[in-house]
Amino acid sequence: MRRFFAEEINGTDGIVALCGEEAHHIISVLRMGVGDHVLLINGDGGECVAEITSVADRTVTLSILEHIASSAEPNVKVTLFQCLPKQGKMELIIQKCVELGVSEIVPVASQRCISDGNIKESKLARWNRVSQEAAKQCGRASVPIVTTPVRLKNMDVSGFDIALLAYENETERTLKSLLRMQSGISSVAIIIGPEGGFSPSEVEWLVGSGVVSVSLGRRILRTETAGIAMLAQLMYELED
Ligand code: SAH
Repeated sequence: MRRFFAEEINGTDGIVALCGEEAHHIISVLRMGVGDHVLLINGDGGECVAEITSVADRTVTLSILEHIASSAEPNVKVTLFQCLPKQGKMELIIQKCVELGVSEIVPVASQRCISDGNIKESKLARWNRVSQEAAKQCGRASVPIVTTPVRLKNMDVSGFDIALLAYENETERTLKSLLRMQSGISSVAIIIGPEGGFSPSEVEWLVGSGVVSVSLGRRILRTETAGIAMLAQLMYELED
């Protein structure tokens, strides 16, 4: 069944009206009509089956048939703290990490980032649209938020069961070995450096504040590969 976004699917009357892009897609692109069934998701974990009851004036009205539990949401919450990469790469990182089950993405400005973290509103809005599209495409009911960038020193990783720094110079501990020694992890922060990596003082500061450094393997990955690879490994080990 096709999925569409509808902010309000929890009202008491069970009637939902869609307009704008979603309605255009239903009416003009897919040419759906009265009686057709679709899935509605609210981006916040809610999902339901609905039937189209009328199509008029660029508005589609639907009646909710059944609320369902999303099967695509992971049981572990992973927040990606991604140091700002060069031009364009952030979109790829967002798209792939949403597909792999990330819960939230926090762009980070660190010493070796080219960007100072001051990004335009329009760019942040575009990143969130990339997340929404990816969530819709891969069947998720929740849309991970891409937050405004923070400075490395202002990152808050205190609320997680574990915070992991992907560090290419870590020789003792691999992500795989660490995860196999832990149990009952339900929230993880993962921190990925920019193209130039983290400076020694940044690594020292992160490790000093309780972050655990891990290796992702024997090869040095590009920043846009590292988050994707780390998330795939995490989900492999932690998802039911
Ligand atoms: N400064 C490095 C490369 C940085 S790679 C150099 O040029 O040699 C960019 C980021 O990807 C790193 O900061 C780290 O977070 C992550 N990364 C890349 N390869 C990794 C690996 N094998 N293990 C852990 N993290 C890795």
